Amino acid sequence: MIPMVDLKKQYHNLKNEIDAAISDVLEQTRFILGPNVSALEEEIAAYHDLSHAVGVANGTDALLLALRAFGIGAGDEVITTPFTFIATAEVIALLGATPVFVDICPETFNLDCSRIAEKITTKTKAIIPVHLFGHPAEMAPIMEIAGKYNIKVIEDCAQAFGAKYNGRKVGTIGDVGCFSFFPSKNLAGYGDGGMVITNNEEIAGQIKILRNHGSAKRYYHQAIGYNSRLDEIQAAIIRVKLKKIDQFNEARRKNAAFYCAAIKSKDIILPTTVSDCEHVYHQFTIRAKNRDVLAGALQKKDIASAVYYPVPLHQQEVFLNLYNVSVKLPQCEKCAQEVLSLPMFPELSREEIIFISDVINHAS
Ligand SMILES: *Cc1c(COP(=O)(O)O)cnc(C)c1O
Repeated sequence: MIPMVDLKKQYHNLKNEIDAAISDVLEQTRFILGPNVSALEEEIAAYHDLSHAVGVANGTDALLLALRAFGIGAGDEVITTPFTFIATAEVIALLGATPVFVDICPETFNLDCSRIAEKITTKTKAIIPVHLFGHPAEMAPIMEIAGKYNIKVIEDCAQAFGAKYNGRKVGTIGDVGCFSFFPSKNLAGYGDGGMVITNNEEIAGQIKILRNHGSAKRYYHQAIGYNSRLDEIQAAIIRVKLKKIDQFNEARRKNAAFYCAAIKSKDIILPTTVSDCEHVYHQFTIRAKNRDVLAGALQKKDIASAVYYPVPLHQQEVFLNLYNVSVKLPQCEKCAQEVLSLPMFPELSREEIIFISDVINHAS
């Protein structure tokens, strides 16, 4: 069996360090906002060369608290991509604002920046680009539009820790960057976790207050907040893996190159990296007209594959019911029919990649 991600292999490689980090937390018994959370915040801020990082309970809350900190709420509009995990748009709706979906570029699966300006209204308060599958969104035109219309940019970096756009790490280009440490992400814990990074001191302070029941000083509350703190045990685990993240991402890029060399079928569109971008291959996602046939052939050989995402957000029942609008976003809809993600993780072997690619070459 070849799974989409093999978390066990990675754990066994790091077992001594991770077990020691966990048992250290148990011995210290500072379980809530303890020393590992602050150390991880400092390390992640330093990794990004930014002044602030705030740990939160998960990636969804990272986005939610960032939007709240910018005062986004009822009546506002936020532009984002329909080709992403629901969380990206869910947080917009949770705050009473409206997600406005813009079509994607099929080459990168990210926002088509040439279509953003036409969706801007007086209600537009923010853009949430997603660096989907680990490929950076086209940040230069997004920042230009945001500057022109004075709107905020909240980067959804949940799938792209360490990816680079024009030499700059994702999450450092917009007003804030939001990360998830869900177990299957490139940098991950063994449970839920998230973080917001920014150079904006006021916004970082707001998010710190919001994550802890609207309180800066214990039992004094200045806002209606959340219980959304990053867990100390998760922070200790993530600190171990942070030391290896560049190696892990490099191994993913190598694996992607092996796949691209081994998949020969002309009917398959391989993932590409736009020049001046550094992909981190959270997913290795191909496109094929007969992707269901491919998925079936892989399954027969005990190889996992997955469709991210089968239903674009603008076609999700929840948003159709909420907003009663039907938009056509043809590129996104086509990708939803054709995408197939293959097993991808740093420890995947060259032999496994050749085996998977052979099955694909024979089935297509
Ligand atoms: C995983 C993910 C999230 C949400 O992160 P959680 O930690 O699961 O809440 C948000 N956006 C994208 C693009 C994701 O992949």
